[in-house]
Parts: sequence; structure tokens; C-alpha cells
Amino acid sequence: MYNLTDSAAVRSLLTKHGFNFSKGLGQNFIIDPEICPDMVEMSGINREYGVIEIGPGIGVLTRELCLRAGKVVSIEIDKRLLPILGETVGGFENLKIINADVLKTDLKRLIADEFGDMPVCVCANLPYYITSPVIMDLLEKKPGLKFVTVMVQKEWADRIISPVGSREAGAVTAAVNYYSEPKKLFNVSKNSFMPAPKVDSSVIKMDIRSAPPVGAEDEKFFFSVVKSAFGQRRKTAVNSLSSGLGISKEIISAALAECGFEPTVRAETMTMEQFCGLSNCILRKSRAD
Ligand code: SAM
Repeated sequence: MYNLTDSAAVRSLLTKHGFNFSKGLGQNFIIDPEICPDMVEMSGINREYGVIEIGPGIGVLTRELCLRAGKVVSIEIDKRLLPILGETVGGFENLKIINADVLKTDLKRLIADEFGDMPVCVCANLPYYITSPVIMDLLEKKPGLKFVTVMVQKEWADRIISPVGSREAGAVTAAVNYYSEPKKLFNVSKNSFMPAPKVDSSVIKMDIRSAPPVGAEDEKFFFSVVKSAFGQRRKTAVNSLSSGLGISKEIISAALAECGFEPTVRAETMTMEQFCGLSNCILRKSRAD
């Protein structure tokens, strides 16, 4: 069996298959022996779980998942990795590898077809170039996941776990917190990868909420308010929301006043509850207009 955390063994495996890393596909493989077992263990994955892995690479995390989960489905876009995966993890009977782009995969369908009644989660070392679209897909499309554990750039993780209303938070922070309860599990040094990326990483776990934390009357409009607020975060809320939403400054000003805000307030300082109250108020006023 290959030791996928031994750099010399990994190099010889890759050379044997004539494989070169693709920077464009975010190929940085884990070579630190503690990370994958910790990721799976701290996620609470056991035999009851079905797991979707995004981007198995040469199978270092896949192997740990197969050892502990009931069933694993790994989605890998790079077909050059398939023969390597065949060699490293092909012996696991509870593994299915799908050669596809995760962003073009219907996960709801995949879960129904592959996992039946099992509780399902995602556990992955994500290709960083698609972190936000993948996470938003997993959360917004509500495919029926219990939790999502992912390794992402540390800076991205820090932004996600900052409270909505703090300087570090952004529109994605609000969205992630709306659909899930995110927490950081641990940081990972850039030296834990082959090849080493430029920045450090973190593993975060997002427990999917069964109900949203705030009562938005219109979810779509709530997210338009959040996006407009953070899209032009240096402007006052009156200006950013009016131009972002295409609603008159009079309506926005009146809604801000009704919700108890100063006219000069900046939307980036608002909490989730405040965003929600404001979006409900703007909606009512713009409908009455
Ligand atoms: N899981 C391995 C590990 O931890 O060492 C590899 C992680 S590497 C950061 C990301 C992997 O995602 C690569 O194998 C890459 O080919 C794959 N990948 C990149 N874009 C993808 C996409 N759109 N859909 C599925 N897999 C993708």
C-alpha cells in the first residue's frame, strides 16, 4: 500500500504515471500524516455517514474517509488522476469515483442515487480557485447535507468565522451564517502540501441549520440587500442600498430611520438581525410605494 504522506513515495508514484501538477486546478496535495485523520475524526464521520469528497487528488483524504465512513463518493475533474486513484484507493469497496466538475454536478440527484437514507456530509480539501462558488452551491441549493467540512485558505476561513457586523465579515460571511453554523477546527501550515502553496490553510466545519437564524420575509430580497451593502462597503447604507437595489433614497432613508439607524450608518456594521429587519422594512415600504 502506498504511503501518501511520504513525499519520496508520492513523487515516485507521480513520476510513474507521468503526472505534472496543474496550478490552474488548485492541485496541492496533503503530505502531513496527521491532517486527514484529524479532519475526519473531528468532523464526527463514522460508518453511518455517506460522504461526498470534492477533488480526491491522489487519494490521501479519500483513504481516511473510506476507512471510517459507510460510503464515499469522490468527484475529481482531472481524468489523469483516475489511474493513480485506481492504484491508491481502488481496493475500497465503499468508494465510488466520479470524473466530473463539481460545479456541474447535480448533488441533490447524486445524494438520492448514491446514499439512500444515510445522513450525508461533504469532507474535502477544496481547490481554492472555486472555494466561494462551491460553498455557496452546497449551502444555497440545499442538497440535504448534515455538515460540510472543508480545507480552505486561512484568510477565507477567518472571514467566514468573523461575526457579521465586524470589519472582516463580507457578503459570503452573512450567507454562510444564514445557512450554517461555521466553526474553525484547526489551521494547516502551507508546508503540509506538495507543492507548497503561498498561504496557510484552515479546516472549517459548517453545521447546516434546519431553519434560518433570522426571519426574512423574502429570502432573495434579503440576500440582495446583503450583497448591495457589501458591494459598495465604503458608501453609507443609503447610497449603497439605493444604487444596489435600484430603490429610491427616500424609501431607504425612511426604512433606516424606522429601524433605528443614524442616516450616516454604513451597512457593513450591521448584524444579521439588523440586515433582516431592514430588508423586511425596505420590502414593505417599496411595495406600498
Ligand atoms: N484531496 C487531495 C488532497 O487533499 O491532497 C487533493 C486536494 S487539491 C487541493 C484539489 C483537487 O480538486 C485536485 O485533485 C483537483 O484536480 C480537483 N479539482 C479542481 N477543480 C475541480 C472541480 N471543478 N471539480 C472537481 N474536482 C476539482
